[in-house]
Amino acid sequence: MKKYTIIVLALLIISGCQGRYYVVEESTKISNQQTKKDDKEMNTHHNLDDQKTSRDKVSTNEKQSNTKKPEQIKQPNIEISQNPSSSVKESPIVVKKEPSKSIKKPVEKPVENKDSIQVVAQPNSIPVVVNKSLSLPENFVPQNLMYLNVPFIFSGNSEKRMMRKEAAIELERLFAGAKKDGVTLLGVSAYRSYRTQKALFERYVAIDGYEKARTYSAVPGTSEHQTGLAIDVTGGNGKCPAEDCFAGTIEAAWLEQNAAKYGFIIRYPKGKDMITGYKYEPWHLRYVGKDVAVDVSTKGITLEEYFNTLPVSK
Ligand SMILES: [Zn+2]
Repeated sequence: MKKYTIIVLALLIISGCQGRYYVVEESTKISNQQTKKDDKEMNTHHNLDDQKTSRDKVSTNEKQSNTKKPEQIKQPNIEISQNPSSSVKESPIVVKKEPSKSIKKPVEKPVENKDSIQVVAQPNSIPVVVNKSLSLPENFVPQNLMYLNVPFIFSGNSEKRMMRKEAAIELERLFAGAKKDGVTLLGVSAYRSYRTQKALFERYVAIDGYEKARTYSAVPGTSEHQTGLAIDVTGGNGKCPAEDCFAGTIEAAWLEQNAAKYGFIIRYPKGKDMITGYKYEPWHLRYVGKDVAVDVSTKGITLEEYFNTLPVSK
């Protein structure tokens, strides 16, 4: 019995140990499986981590590339910032250009004014030649302006009714002389101040530009009307005031024949526009004094030719 018992116990012990071993083995297997699972998960995490890492890497790359890009931007910046040295090189060119422009402007204007327009030395002289090349001094106001006692095409006071005293007296005599001959004349426009001419001319310049404006309007200072010695007239019916249709009228013909007796000339004769700078204006009378007027009209020449001044280039 003892032997049998011992054998049973021994078997039990052995089986128990195997069971434990088995249990241990199983738990080891399980733990191994868990470890594998964990490994898988770990791998997955790792993968995620890898992805993250790769993202991170990408983002890092991006960051790097971003950081590179700014560097690339910086490089141009650096180039630009290096450019300052080159822009410093360029800047003198810019600086050169600007002064050259600013130099040109003041140079160009005097060239136009001094070369093509000279200021007359004796603006108060009765036979003074004023044209597109010969200007009165800026803001010149003639002496002894007075209102003309002759009818005008307009009513009311205006500087256009004024002339210098010497011219005014003779013009009134001329109008009276015409009337005796049955020719009625009307004043259109006599004195025009520098200020008025300036405003007028600037209005034309604003519309057509300087070069075009000066072809049909006098640059301030170059209008004979500013001398107080010139007047535009028309016939008694008031038609064709300072217009081409005044040519060929009885009044125009009378003026052609008689104006010089009173010291006036038809300042812009027909066919002399290359010299005077103006086309034929039979209505524009200019007081130059009797001697000069008679001389000019009998010779059939212009005031420019009479005083041997340079022809006005159109
Ligand atoms: Zn005129």
